[in-house]
Amino acid sequence: MNGCGRTSLDRDAATPTSPIRSDRTSHDRGWAKVQIGRVCEKSWLAHRLNLECGMVHVGIGYDVHALVIGRKLILGGVDIPHHKGLDGHSDADALMHAVCDAVLGALGEADIGHFFPNTDPRWKGAPSRVFLQEAARQVAFREGRIVNIDATVIAQEPKIYPHIQNMKLHIAEALGINFRRVGIKATTNESMGFIGREEGIAAMAVASLDLPEELLPTVI
Ligand SMILES: [Zn+2]
Repeated sequence: MNGCGRTSLDRDAATPTSPIRSDRTSHDRGWAKVQIGRVCEKSWLAHRLNLECGMVHVGIGYDVHALVIGRKLILGGVDIPHHKGLDGHSDADALMHAVCDAVLGALGEADIGHFFPNTDPRWKGAPSRVFLQEAARQVAFREGRIVNIDATVIAQEPKIYPHIQNMKLHIAEALGINFRRVGIKATTNESMGFIGREEGIAAMAVASLDLPEELLPTVI
């Protein structure tokens, strides 16, 4: 209770030079104790809420890759049959990359390219789940937890909807969370722009994290 168990009123009342007027009735003192108790209870509750629930932080992520012949189309960790695939240094999973950036953004960290530069041969052809696993590790390191993920895939072709449940499972597994905490939607670009011409696929994501306030970085 952080010293709230014994009030200043208790101490003062026990001191001969107490500033509390001696003409106060026991009813007055009882009322004052109740008020002080309420203040202590509120601050104690706020303290507990801060430690146990932390603060919710939100991050946003966006990624886009070009669709080219001769590459697999991997989205949300799912190998989707298509005559073109996404081009990139890793498996070019735009959805997982957007989710990764959202998680890192909620932590106040740099983007995925900072942690996994596309000039590093270690990540050539790498499955993007390793990026999500690292992002989740960063959250755990801060003693936080991922509250939920919401993402949208923007693709003219192929149809994404039949693969969404599988994508949720892959992303949830990589992040170590329940798949019900992962939302994925898909839309076309109404045949407009480079996505509408099937030259690329984009994804955007939002992540919310529960982080203990005390562990947030205070110096950049
Ligand atoms: Zn990417």
